[in-house]
Amino acid sequence: MAETESGQGDQRPAPLRAALSPGRWPDVPVLAYKQDADSPFEAVTRRVLFAAPELDCELRYFEVDRGGHSTLERHEHAHAVVVHRGCGQCLVGHDVRDIGVGDLVSIAPMTWHQFRANRGEPLGFLCMVNVRRDKPRQPTREDLEALKAVPAIATFLKS
Ligand code: MN
Repeated sequence: MAETESGQGDQRPAPLRAALSPGRWPDVPVLAYKQDADSPFEAVTRRVLFAAPELDCELRYFEVDRGGHSTLERHEHAHAVVVHRGCGQCLVGHDVRDIGVGDLVSIAPMTWHQFRANRGEPLGFLCMVNVRRDKPRQPTREDLEALKAVPAIATFLKS
């Protein structure tokens, strides 16, 4: 089946794709987390679950392996996140929070965010975004120093 950049085939998905196990579905390709090589991340996979042309949003599933983390970034577009599997922590703005299955995380525009599977389990989460969105920006050295000045964030970034 030919694939588009979003990772879904040219054909529409079946009306029901029953889960094989938590975070695993048939006919959902596992994709590289980031296309660009210079975004620091570790042990993250990406799956596009819904990307229909008539929707203005996409629903993706990201899974961070135990000990891994997403890129620390911010951007103009917002994220709506639902934890689906495992547990870990997230940084949103200047808050570090424990997260587990069913928790909802709202990431407002231009808010620093990162997800870390630092609780001995993988961390899988659903993430809704606009189809048209700006490119994520990573912290400058000055941004990073300002973030690390918050003790909880310094601890989080080393976890
Ligand atoms: Mn993001």
